[in-house]
Amino acid sequence: MWYFNSPLIVFGEDALSELACIEGRKAFIVTDANLARLGYVDMVAEKLTAAGLQYRVFAEVEPDPSLDTVQRGAELMRQYEPDWIVGLGGGSSMDAAKAMWVLYEHPEMVPNEINPVVPMKLRQKARLITISTTSGTGAEATWGIVLTDTAEQRKLALGSRENMADMAIVDPIFVAGLPPQVTADTGMDVLTHAVEGYTTSWHNDFTDGLCLKAIQLVFDYLPRAVADGKDKEARERMHNAAAIAGLGFGNSLAAMAHAVGHSIGAAFHTPHGRAVGLALPYTVEFTGETMAERYADIARFVGVGCGSSQEAPPLLAKKIRELARGIGQPLSLQETGISADQFEAALPKLTENAENDATLVASARIPDSAEVQRLYRYIFAGKPVDF
Ligand SMILES: [Zn+2]
Repeated sequence: MWYFNSPLIVFGEDALSELACIEGRKAFIVTDANLARLGYVDMVAEKLTAAGLQYRVFAEVEPDPSLDTVQRGAELMRQYEPDWIVGLGGGSSMDAAKAMWVLYEHPEMVPNEINPVVPMKLRQKARLITISTTSGTGAEATWGIVLTDTAEQRKLALGSRENMADMAIVDPIFVAGLPPQVTADTGMDVLTHAVEGYTTSWHNDFTDGLCLKAIQLVFDYLPRAVADGKDKEARERMHNAAAIAGLGFGNSLAAMAHAVGHSIGAAFHTPHGRAVGLALPYTVEFTGETMAERYADIARFVGVGCGSSQEAPPLLAKKIRELARGIGQPLSLQETGISADQFEAALPKLTENAENDATLVASARIPDSAEVQRLYRYIFAGKPVDF
């Protein structure tokens, strides 16, 4: 038995105007200072006012939100008593909003207790709307929550199906001004979600189509969105792709490229999408034999001709590297500016963190320690994996 969860998704041009139709009294907007400065909070507030709602803004979410930030936001929610919560931003703001909502409904809980097993009976006090301002994490359409325990210096993977948003607004107006580098980094995250969602050991009939479509959208539209940020069609299709991939991997799982990418990000402060996107072709090669048929499906779907299924993984990895190269992404750790000394010093920690990452269990081929280390050496040097 398994589940498929999704918010109501409102997408396309002017999707934001749906906010003017909601019914309620008070909304609590969870976002970051930058989005407030850019005027995005005002755009949301205007629609809420049109719907007859009062609102309050919490614009203090930092990248990699801490437990402390979540507790502070939840406390303000308890004082304000909203019946709608709006998570506006990238993954950080939307994840923080999900966690604050749980603590608002359950003041007795601490964030570490948010897990898929314990029923929480949410929605007694409020409902959640997510509005994504990047085309990447897919957090608008997933129930996972990533928070950072700053005292312990580690990331916490939390979440329950119940804290999935009620409505996700996927309006391309919020990504019209994203710089090319952010577009490229976050776009590689979308591709990684979709490829992993299709090839993890938890893949299923309900997510397969979503993952394949998202992969196709990335290959067709990401280079255009990076080359010309004003290409409205490319922006809209990439924004859709992020949410579609979110539904895909959120209802199957992410896998080894995320385990490897997370630890690269922790060691070298590489942005999430760039790190997992860098790892992706290597993990395709590493898991290729185990999932050959599925990689062949993807290869066919994006127009890579391959004779037998066994030929597909390396050809698909090559196609991913070509895409990455075309949008200025690094193809090796070396290219990101990491020296050989830095790499060797970090290697034990990189390996340990990847092995302990929750996403590794979903990999179609589970590596042992020696294989993880070996894989990092290939990623550092930029050589296709052949073991
Ligand atoms: Zn990701």
